[in-house]
Amino acid sequence: MIDYTRQEHHEFLAATDEALANANLQLALSRLGDTLGSRNREAFAQLRESSLLRERARAIKDATLLRLEEHLATLERSILARGGQVHYAADSADACRIIGDLVEAAGGRKVVKSKSMTTEEIHLNRALGERGIDVVETDFGEYILQVAEQRPSHLVAPAVHLTVGNVAEILSNSAGRALPADAPQLAAYARETLRAEFASADVGITGANFAVAETGTIVLVSNEGNARLTVSLPRVHIAVMGMEKVIPRLADLPVFLKVLARAATGQKLSIYTSLITGARRAGELDGAEQFHLVVLDNGRSRILGGPLRESLFCIRCGACLNACPVYRNIGGHAYGGVYAGPIGAVLTPLYDGLQANPHLPHASSLCGACQAACPVKIAIPEMLIKLREQLHDDPATGSKFEALVYGLWARAMRRPWAYRLATWLATRTVGRLKRGSPWLRRLPGVGGWTAARDFPAPAAQRFRDWWREEQRG
Ligand code: SF4
Repeated sequence: MIDYTRQEHHEFLAATDEALANANLQLALSRLGDTLGSRNREAFAQLRESSLLRERARAIKDATLLRLEEHLATLERSILARGGQVHYAADSADACRIIGDLVEAAGGRKVVKSKSMTTEEIHLNRALGERGIDVVETDFGEYILQVAEQRPSHLVAPAVHLTVGNVAEILSNSAGRALPADAPQLAAYARETLRAEFASADVGITGANFAVAETGTIVLVSNEGNARLTVSLPRVHIAVMGMEKVIPRLADLPVFLKVLARAATGQKLSIYTSLITGARRAGELDGAEQFHLVVLDNGRSRILGGPLRESLFCIRCGACLNACPVYRNIGGHAYGGVYAGPIGAVLTPLYDGLQANPHLPHASSLCGACQAACPVKIAIPEMLIKLREQLHDDPATGSKFEALVYGLWARAMRRPWAYRLATWLATRTVGRLKRGSPWLRRLPGVGGWTAARDFPAPAAQRFRDWWREEQRG
């Protein structure tokens, strides 16, 4: 059973040390920057006025969230008019209960699932497993992870932490025979195995990349075609989405399709874009007999009214992970939550509590590569700083040492004589040490910093002294 555990700060540090020392993980991650990361940049570079398109996507998200309730009501009306049903879930437990009840009401014992981070967020597989319902992941990456009892480490490439050799070993164990370390042959094995699962499943569960309010259309974007089979072969289709996934008009969709594919994989468009509008109607040849949409809140309405509402603009493309120097070195599992990388460092504390995840806002160098890569230009570094402020201001998580140092610094900055004295002392003590000196590594409070990098020695001469000398000639 996959287990998601909350991490303490020291556990995060231990997990990062472990990730950095894991040669296999480092090999798997080394492909990331050269593949997904650079493809994203090339794809946007080839698109005329890509910045304007990203601004447009951002503006649509912003305007939609301002009238979210209204758009959700329109979406519900549209889906009801097309024979579907809409369910609202306040939190993970509520969503799992609703989905479990729907599966049981349909007499379902087997569920096929298409990749969905929202169902990861609510730990749906575990909840359905506890009700005796068999769940089969059908996205190739997710299928590998289900067999290996591991959790996803990336938003769009869930098994990116594995090499093809790892995958061959995992699937060979499951198949009971040796499979070659060859990606097409491994994919062929999974395809063959999963066909039988699709054919015998009662219920298909998917996420939703977007939901168009005016038409009641659920949009699924994928590169494998498993989403299409998930929604068309079983009798019942349940789509699960965060409430922020709604967009008002069908005319808004091309804007998002263009930026999502480019940001996620560097494609102009993903290979499959499925538009599902309600249940199968009389005369239609395929589609599920029943369609249900589960709209998840799970803290989103609280975030909507707060200073970090921009996090709800996220379209889960994974571009910020590919661009992030921290993610590219430690991978996704070290973050501890369902969402990894820069946006995960914002989302997990928001959904799961900042006190439970105090390490995540610090898991960033604040270099800004995430914001530059983001197709909706989310200001991730700013949000991480806001979360750090909240941690600092909370007596339960604020560092007393840090408060003391910054308190003294603030006092010195307000009193010119104290500032002069402090800089005079610094230049005559640590300023005399050379960069890289072992003494600099032993200064109290800087051990975490100097364990892996230099602590810059202050200049041996203050600017004001240098300036005075210059003036004297
Ligand atoms: S924050 Fe931006 S770049 Fe990161 S996953 Fe979300 S949309 Fe993509």
